Amino acid sequence: MSASAPTARVTPSVSEFRAVIRDSVVNTPHTKTLRLDLGAPAGYRAGQYVTIDPHQFAELRSIVGSLEQLKRRREAPRAYSLSSAPDEPCVAITVKEEVFDPSDAPFPPLLSGFLVHEVRAGDALTLRGFVGTYTLTDEAAAETDHVLHLCAGSGSVANLSILKDSLRRHSHIRHTFVYSNRTWQDVIFRSELRAIRAYWGERVQVIHRLTRENGPLPGEANVARGRIDFDLLRTILVAHPTSRVFVCGPGVSVRERRAAAAQGTTPAPRFMETMLGHLDALAVPRAHIKMEAYG
Ligand SMILES: Cc1cc2nc3c(=O)[nH]c(=O)nc-3n(C[C@H](O)[C@H](O)[C@H](O)COP(=O)(O)OP(=O)(O)OC[C@H]3O[C@@H](n4cnc5c(N)ncnc54)[C@H](O)[C@@H]3O)c2cc1C
Repeated sequence: MSASAPTARVTPSVSEFRAVIRDSVVNTPHTKTLRLDLGAPAGYRAGQYVTIDPHQFAELRSIVGSLEQLKRRREAPRAYSLSSAPDEPCVAITVKEEVFDPSDAPFPPLLSGFLVHEVRAGDALTLRGFVGTYTLTDEAAAETDHVLHLCAGSGSVANLSILKDSLRRHSHIRHTFVYSNRTWQDVIFRSELRAIRAYWGERVQVIHRLTRENGPLPGEANVARGRIDFDLLRTILVAHPTSRVFVCGPGVSVRERRAAAAQGTTPAPRFMETMLGHLDALAVPRAHIKMEAYG
């Protein structure tokens, strides 16, 4: 096993940045990557996130006020993982718009749609960062030769950063990136993952699972209908028993847990709970698993 390159420089405490949007990339009809100039050195680790306070946007003032009145609490800053890797010249976040479904949600989502559709190159925004322990430490990297990424929807953002960073810094580590989406059109980073695969060859495997695709599948290897299931994980983990696993996607929220408890029921498992159940059944040590729930 080869030694790891030194860890990227880490900012010791959370700082506030006045960022200017350099440009943006539309990833899917509901997802956009914002590339940011921070005006200060950005010392972060792959997998970390920033927070953005919705109160700073004059355009959202009325909706923030009315939501706070309805919810009887102050709107909290929202977290966004960095999709860039620390050695890239631009810091980037990738935001997926949460679409309002009144039959399923009590309030319209506040910030994500605004970031996807309303902000423009040259606009400034304040963010705080860098936060989070959803990172591949040098110690963990030294103890394995394989990282398994399990992501759903915008859960791929942090994992893309970890994937790019580790490919460059840990020459002994291979990656399997297993990604669940409803349809092929929903897949964020389709072209980035294709390019990474083409560049890094056998060090990366990308596996897509589409849970609600009714159209034809793209002519691309490893795209199939269905969910990420136990058998797929077993096959990968039997081949790579020392894997470190990074799971990111929707999980049962605290709100959903409380609501279910009040009714004496248990909330239906979402992506995070299902993946964790499979990993437990496969006896993957909890110390080898990192999780970030977006629910
Ligand atoms: C660590 C972390 C990293 C993340 N990284 C990313 C990322 O890289 N990209 C990304 O797109 N997202 C990411 N997220 C999710 C992101 O932080 C936001 O949750 C998401 O963008 C939705 O925010 P919103 O303001 O649009 O919706 P919100 O206003 O938060 O609403 C979301 C849903 O919650 C419901 N809701 C809101 N308030 C209440 C209430 N009081 N009671 C009941 N229901 C309520 C709404 O009806 C709606 O259905 C991350 C989350 C975490 C925790």
